[in-house]
Amino acid sequence: MYAQFGPAGNPDAFYQAGYKASVDMPQWLAGLGLTAYEYQCSRGVTIRPETAAAIGRQAAEHNIKLSIHAPYYINLATEDAKIAANTKKHLLKSLEAAQWMGADRVVFHPGGPGRQERRRAMEQAKRLFAEVLAEAERQGLNTVLLAPETMGKQNQLGTLDEVLELCRMAKWVAPAVDFGHMHAVTGGQYTTREEFAAVFDKVATELGEEVAANLHIHFSRIEFTKAGEKKHWTFDDPFGPSYEPLLEVIAERRYTPRLICESAGTQARDAKIMQEFYFRCLNNW
Ligand SMILES: [Zn+2]
Repeated sequence: MYAQFGPAGNPDAFYQAGYKASVDMPQWLAGLGLTAYEYQCSRGVTIRPETAAAIGRQAAEHNIKLSIHAPYYINLATEDAKIAANTKKHLLKSLEAAQWMGADRVVFHPGGPGRQERRRAMEQAKRLFAEVLAEAERQGLNTVLLAPETMGKQNQLGTLDEVLELCRMAKWVAPAVDFGHMHAVTGGQYTTREEFAAVFDKVATELGEEVAANLHIHFSRIEFTKAGEKKHWTFDDPFGPSYEPLLEVIAERRYTPRLICESAGTQARDAKIMQEFYFRCLNNW
């Protein structure tokens, strides 16, 4: 069993090669030797069941592990009843689409505190999240992992501690650790093996070694300001964090996470760069 690597969404090279539909992505990724694909529902879950099932069949045939990124409009901490109702709907629809597709996890952004004090916003978020979990369980949607993501801006919920707090609410909630975001929001941390190792150790302590060893990871180089994340770049650009120490830790520990690359346009090529480095590390250990 190896770590899996793949892109978030469809890279420029896919379209430049003349493809248009996501149903062709699994075969295209397999051609590159990649093994994961995160399907983007960022602007809403509009995919039809037949399309989702077709992507799922292609992914199964080409050994590509699937995840879904839920809509950006989700805000668990909202005090607005309409946004709360929509947040529930977006999460439940994302889980349903994941079942159609055979995706094993749904990644989502927890939301923003708005004008609320941060701790109070977390309590609000947990109340709404408990409702989402109960309803999903009632509908039998809890066969898919729900994965709250660590976020890149100061005014977003989603520090590692906040994400782990949400993960403790149900067995089928697991963290999505975005190291680019964590690099941005901490003003440039997560560049050394010790810093990356500490994240895995913390997840292992809080949620168990199994979860730590099979973490869902987002990785990209990110430009940041004092407020946090500004822009996603590519591996050709001079921004952090660097992937080498992260992959050294993963290889050394024989972990098997799923790494989704979110570079701007070159996400498949950069996922491949990470995968090749990972296999070089494994061979050297
Ligand atoms: Zn995200």
